[in-house]
Amino acid sequence: MSDQVSDPDSQPEEPSGRSVLVTGGNRGIGRAIAEAFLAQGDRVAVTSRSGGGPDGALDLTCDITDAAAIEAAFTEIESAHGPVEVLVANAGITADTLLVRMSDDEWSSVIDTNLTGSFRLAKRAVSKMMRLRRGRIIFISSVVGLLGSGGQVNYAASKAGLVGMARSIAREYGSRGITANVVAPGFVETDMTETLSDDLKATYKAQVPLGRYGSTDEIASAVTWLASDGAAYITGAVIPVDGGLGMGH
Ligand code: NDP
Repeated sequence: MSDQVSDPDSQPEEPSGRSVLVTGGNRGIGRAIAEAFLAQGDRVAVTSRSGGGPDGALDLTCDITDAAAIEAAFTEIESAHGPVEVLVANAGITADTLLVRMSDDEWSSVIDTNLTGSFRLAKRAVSKMMRLRRGRIIFISSVVGLLGSGGQVNYAASKAGLVGMARSIAREYGSRGITANVVAPGFVETDMTETLSDDLKATYKAQVPLGRYGSTDEIASAVTWLASDGAAYITGAVIPVDGGLGMGH
């Protein structure tokens, strides 16, 4: 009989961290969120239409206006990382113009991406979180969802809708250990805001009590905290990360 010496190096590695999905994780706020989860050892998948993302993330192409593409992305994530335990619904678009000039397409494309896309993602994620009896859902809204913003009727409506959706999910699935919260960023310099004129940017900055724009890392910090054990008793909350721009709401 040969002696069996166990070699610790030969043991299969236990997967570390949680299975996290960040939509719109190839750039801007979503990329910073994905990097923050990767830095704490989570297994991170990022999705976008054009692809790309931080090193170490599972990078998937997925248009969130397409339910079949969402289904395919979740299937791939589940086979690589296991069921999604933390969903960050971050992908979003703008199509700004005044109400009287806004076309049906400008309205519906923004609602379909920002609000209905988030609904599709949450629905698919919750189906597996229910069986796990745990899960964290974080929607990236905006200060303008509650404050309103001229020229952004479609965008503000989509972002306000996320609050009602999160709070309803919080009530439906709290008993299964699933939390649903909203992060409402203020002005953050990314591709989304770079098209604004310098004058308009200066006007926004002047309204921010902290007197500066936010950084993508400051949004990521609130998101990782909401997904942490320390935030286990927080659900249905709207966390502003806006330098005080929207306070009072
Ligand atoms: P960016 O424009 O830099 O990034 C948007 C992200 O969403 C990209 O990764 C984009 O990838 C993805 N995306 C857009 N449409 C789709 C789609 N149909 N399917 C899949 N992915 C999509 O924006 P930010 O990083 O600035 O914004 C991130 C989130 O934060 C958004 O929800 C935005 O509304 C919100 N926010 C931003 C603020 C700011 O000041 N920047 C302020 C408040 C809220 P791709 O194009 O490759 O699909």
